Amino acid sequence: MGKEKKCDVLVVGAGVSGVAAAVAAARSGMRTMLVEKDSFLGGTGYSGLLQHICGLYLNGKTMQEETLNDGIVREIVSRLYQLSPRNKIKKIGQVYVLPYSREYLASVFNSMCRAEDKLTIMFNAAAVSVNKVGDKVVEVGLDQSGTAHKIFPRVLIDCSGDGEAAFMAGADYKLSPASKRQLAGFIIHLKGLNTGDETLPVKVPYYLSKAASAKLFPSYIRFTVFSFGEAPGEGFLKINPGHENSRSIRVISNRAENMLRYLSEKLPSFRDAYIDGASLRVMDREGRRPIGEYTLTEDDILNAGKFDDGVVKNSWPIELWDRKKGTLYKYLKDGEYYEIPFRCLKVKGISNLLCAGRCISVSHEALGSTRVMGTCMSLGEQAGLASAYYIENGRYPHEGRK
Ligand SMILES: Cc1cc2nc3c(=O)[nH]c(=O)nc-3n(C[C@H](O)[C@H](O)[C@H](O)COP(=O)(O)OP(=O)(O)OC[C@H]3O[C@@H](n4cnc5c(N)ncnc54)[C@H](O)[C@@H]3O)c2cc1C
Repeated sequence: MGKEKKCDVLVVGAGVSGVAAAVAAARSGMRTMLVEKDSFLGGTGYSGLLQHICGLYLNGKTMQEETLNDGIVREIVSRLYQLSPRNKIKKIGQVYVLPYSREYLASVFNSMCRAEDKLTIMFNAAAVSVNKVGDKVVEVGLDQSGTAHKIFPRVLIDCSGDGEAAFMAGADYKLSPASKRQLAGFIIHLKGLNTGDETLPVKVPYYLSKAASAKLFPSYIRFTVFSFGEAPGEGFLKINPGHENSRSIRVISNRAENMLRYLSEKLPSFRDAYIDGASLRVMDREGRRPIGEYTLTEDDILNAGKFDDGVVKNSWPIELWDRKKGTLYKYLKDGEYYEIPFRCLKVKGISNLLCAGRCISVSHEALGSTRVMGTCMSLGEQAGLASAYYIENGRYPHEGRK
């Protein structure tokens, strides 16, 4: 038997943005529900086998140890430091990142959520319908392992990554054609590497490119990135399929096995390497972007745009995973940052619907910068705070500002 429940704030999706949104709303005194179709917190940040949290720091010649945004993101970083003091901010090329382990991130998220008595979490619960009356969301249907539930929220926050709730609510959205969409990603965790060869990050793509040209593998294999892990003998292969390729885990896992076999023939460092784990699924870098009251552009980012309703700061470059050219970077000037206006979170035409995380209102190019985890966490927090303000005051805190 399904249940009907009322709440103040309903957050769809428990990725890094959804956890931050739900904790911020609950801490503001709102009866908050966080619904997640998988069975864990952290979304891509947990299931993707990523190595670094990006978008936390100001990029420039001088390292700033303090995060660019304060609030929940700073708390998450400080809790991660406590659990693993060895994982310190580091510079890769022109950017600063925080190495992290997904187990510690999950532990931090779980303890933050558990501390909030106004927060209820439902796992294995997918939002499957959104009903509106006039310009307001009134009801969200859930399917929790075959049981239907109805939730009646005062504010709905879409943190699904793909704008799923906004789509179901009938919001307009942008979705780049498959030919333009950023490459998706699938990460393989390797152990047993005979390390010592520091040139592997260059050699691996070189050999895989040759193999792709010889048609041993599909052409997207040439965009594969290799990086070392923190532990001896550990490495990661980031495979980046285009959207026309199979997303079947079986197909991509078989391909990874074949790539490893090929690499072990070419490179002695790979001779004893084995696959210790892989992303849960092929992960999208780009999906639906519901249209908000403002759409952030490449110019806003590269000109370090500031706004009266700017709520999140970001210094991460535009990082586009292009299906023809591979990774392309466009950097802000040294030591500069831009702001994301609240209007990018406020879905156009639906008064009580906000988006946060990867699915805010930005252009295809701008998404290359806003989608990183540090930024998504701060966006989630701002959505949670704004929803509480809206419920208490009947308007958003930044309304009318540009
Ligand atoms: C290959 C790849 C590599 C990346 N590398 C990095 C990196 O190194 N560093 C970095 O900072 N960022 C990286 N990113 C970007 C970053 O991981 C994501 O953009 C970010 O984690 C998105 O967070 P989110 O909370 O918006 O969404 P997600 O993490 O996608 O979370 C959305 C959650 O919503 C849930 N959901 C979806 N629909 C529903 C529904 N209908 N009902 C209930 N739940 C639902 C999903 O199950 C998921 O848990 C990478 C991305 C990719 C694809």
